[in-house]
Amino acid sequence: MYNTSKELYSRAVEVMPGGVNSPARAFKSVAEHPLFMDHAKGSRLYDVDGNEFIDYSLSFGPLILGHADEKTVQSVQEAAVKGTSFGAPTELETTMAELVMERVPSIEMIRMVSSGTEATLAALRLARGFTGKNKILKFEGCYHGHSDSLLIKAGSGVATLGLPDSPGVPEGTAKNTITVPYNDKESLQQAFDAFGDDIAAVIMEPVAGNMGVVPPVDGFLEFVREITEQNDALLIFDEVMTGFRVGYHSAQGHFGITPDLTCLGKVIGGGLPVGAFGGKREIMERIAPAGDIYQAGTLSGNPLAMSAGIATLSQLNEDSYKYFIKLADQLEAGLKEVFAKHDTPITINRAGSMIGFFLTEGPVIDFDSANSSDLELFRAMYQALLEEGVYLPPSQFEGMFLSTKHTEADIAQTIQAFDNSLSKVTGK
Ligand code: PMP
Repeated sequence: MYNTSKELYSRAVEVMPGGVNSPARAFKSVAEHPLFMDHAKGSRLYDVDGNEFIDYSLSFGPLILGHADEKTVQSVQEAAVKGTSFGAPTELETTMAELVMERVPSIEMIRMVSSGTEATLAALRLARGFTGKNKILKFEGCYHGHSDSLLIKAGSGVATLGLPDSPGVPEGTAKNTITVPYNDKESLQQAFDAFGDDIAAVIMEPVAGNMGVVPPVDGFLEFVREITEQNDALLIFDEVMTGFRVGYHSAQGHFGITPDLTCLGKVIGGGLPVGAFGGKREIMERIAPAGDIYQAGTLSGNPLAMSAGIATLSQLNEDSYKYFIKLADQLEAGLKEVFAKHDTPITINRAGSMIGFFLTEGPVIDFDSANSSDLELFRAMYQALLEEGVYLPPSQFEGMFLSTKHTEADIAQTIQAFDNSLSKVTGK
């Protein structure tokens, strides 16, 4: 069923670490080797062996209009013909900035970059430069890209100074990163009591999407906003995943919380490599060349990427998000029924077009509870679902994503696939 993928993998693994250019796609926790893709259209993904899948990974989130959306492809083609990069400004960059700012009013100025990692690392430099403080605080289980100060191992139940999560991250860097559990006001308070004078910023996913989907509990975002304000620390929302996914005005609009800085990526690039950071004018004007804090990029604001992003954002409207809720309602109800039938626990967490399921009784509100999911069952289910034609993000700790091209029939087929897979793996 996957013979060509297997062959390609054996070639790839000789020349690339793990056979891939990014670890998340390596299938480490779900199968022997990843599937190699040939093409995709709408909600469907086709691998090199000719298998067809309903795709809920959507390239880990960006493809909110589904694969190879016609207007997006056309815009990129037209841009490519005019020149792929100029190293000089284009109108497209301003149009893109205006489109984002219209929908996310906390962003009064924006800088485009080429990945989410770049966006968060630049936002942290800016926060440190602006406040003159050194430490940053992040939440356990939140991922903000792979820059040194953000690759920090999560602490236990109390506020801890970070330990590096990877060899190569200097201890000195890690010491400036404080981690506390997500959704835990008390630990956050303790961290500010201990280090408040030197915390430049709290960076967070307003809905966590990198430990599976974990929304903020009632009042948590309000508390973070309040405590950062009281301590003259900036609040950075990393909306690389949630931006234009949780709602038309992103997660911050959905929850009514205004951060000082916002990081974006994924959806705003329409499938091309894009990131961005933006926020209060007063802070953003410190960025070079307007100000003294350096940040740059040869391909930042690239015309192909801007064209894909503009085509994507301009096809989304408030109704798109109503549609996502409708599909997500259908999926949630169907999965609950199927799991009950097979007497297998499931917890479902949702936010707009993001849906997370955990194989546990729940509730799942932080990294520890996310880890209570049955990972062996997930692995078995994952393989069975592939055979049934459903492609999930290849980890229990990634959410499922919907696109405007997914249909009610896709969801019904997916629910049936779960039913069949559960029969197969649980024998119930
Ligand atoms: N922040 C968040 C919230 C993310 O989900 C990701 C990627 N999954 C990143 C940052 C890093 O983005 P990139 O992979 O484009 O560097």
